[in-house]
Amino acid sequence: MDLNRLTIHEAHELLSKREISSVELTKAVLHRIEEVEEKVRAYLTVDEDRAIEMSKKVDEEGDFSSPLSGIPVAIKDNICTRDLKTTCASRILANFVPPYDATVSERLKAKKAVIIGKTNMDEFAMGSSTENSAFFATRNPWDVDRVPGGSSGGSAAAVAADECIYALGSDTGGSIRQPASYCGVVGLKPTYGRVSRYGLVAYASSLDQIGPLTKDVTDCALVLNAIAGWDERDSTSANLPVPDFTKSLVEDVKGMKMGLPKEYLGEGVEPEVKEAILSAARVFEKLGASVEEISLPHTEYALWAYYIIAPAEASSNLARYDGIRYGVRAKDYEDLLDLYKKTRSEGFGREVKRRIMLGTYALSSGYYDAYYLKAMKVRTLVKADFDRAFEKYDLIIAPTAPTPAFKLGEKTGDPLKMYMSDVCTIPVNMAGLPAISIPCGFSGGLPIGLQIIGKPFDEATVLRAAYTFERATDFNSRKPAL
Ligand code: GLN
Repeated sequence: MDLNRLTIHEAHELLSKREISSVELTKAVLHRIEEVEEKVRAYLTVDEDRAIEMSKKVDEEGDFSSPLSGIPVAIKDNICTRDLKTTCASRILANFVPPYDATVSERLKAKKAVIIGKTNMDEFAMGSSTENSAFFATRNPWDVDRVPGGSSGGSAAAVAADECIYALGSDTGGSIRQPASYCGVVGLKPTYGRVSRYGLVAYASSLDQIGPLTKDVTDCALVLNAIAGWDERDSTSANLPVPDFTKSLVEDVKGMKMGLPKEYLGEGVEPEVKEAILSAARVFEKLGASVEEISLPHTEYALWAYYIIAPAEASSNLARYDGIRYGVRAKDYEDLLDLYKKTRSEGFGREVKRRIMLGTYALSSGYYDAYYLKAMKVRTLVKADFDRAFEKYDLIIAPTAPTPAFKLGEKTGDPLKMYMSDVCTIPVNMAGLPAISIPCGFSGGLPIGLQIIGKPFDEATVLRAAYTFERATDFNSRKPAL
């Protein structure tokens, strides 16, 4: 048995019965990394020694009451891990070792998870293909000439290639769901406020949210259980009760009302993707749900508003990288201003600089009203579309991305084309809603993702529909050949 292929719940069962040990499981994952990492390049750091040490400790203690106990997890490199390098795939943080854990890292450690390493990403999570990493591009395990999506491409690829049992990513405009879709795995962006952002390196603070990337929906519920909930260190985290999400793992969508927005199946959506989504709708109907076409009329403006709001917030958040307090400092400089300039010029990549300039411009006096304020008004309209739809429907289903994974280099020369790959995911962040991507088909051997969007803080219904769909189909049982 290849232990690295197990899901969390499968591994947990074997661990609790003492049929396998955490050390064996961890070694199987490390062995897999050795075997395929040259092709996939999902990891920026593999923390081999500490992972083994941790797994030994879990085995010795012998307490497998937590479902995550002794199970290897990969963490996106913008989530702080104490004493373990956290670079955001940027040269400016190439040497940054956080002196503290993000709340999610702390919560996983409290559940005795084994942190196997840190995954590659687009620099500061700005991108859709992981090609914006300052270090190297990650490849899609289904076709290594293609991108894994982004910005959590390393996490999605690691899960798809069985180089970990599950992973954490972050999603500002689609960065968990879009790579999950491209790599044929499950990815959930929780409601804004459901999971603490403390220790997540900020990109666009009003949109960022951490979530799981897993091999199936059950695992997704297990990880969400572990990381969700109020945190006094994040003022935007919601002080609401967190249900036990494993209670959602029931096969039942009878009577559920689903809306299928026509704007998500229009121009630019590949015919195979459209067909897969329509088939998914038929699966739900057969299982007793109703699916109706709806309209979310402001969808087409969401992307453009996002590319004002996200860069505006980024330009402010990234002001802290000045070469003084932490990270890399330029070597030769004349005075303080020169130090700032050189550090930032050398430290940031092209896309990050583009966003900082865009955001600074959109916020500058004289342009603020025309750009930022207007974009915020559009954001309100986008949210109002969803609010209206959710008066009548329990869930909204849509493609996660308009096409399957594209070729490496295909969109790097044209930022607008790259931005378009998030057209189906961005509105959900603008409205702060929970949404999952699950495998729902293939096009030319490449996975297609179905997006299920829920009401605020109703991850439970999203998971229930996703679980029911997963059990009724077999799209998530296929594995890339590599
Ligand atoms: N591709 C989008 C961007 O570059 C979304 C990224 C993300 O969700 N972090 O902003």
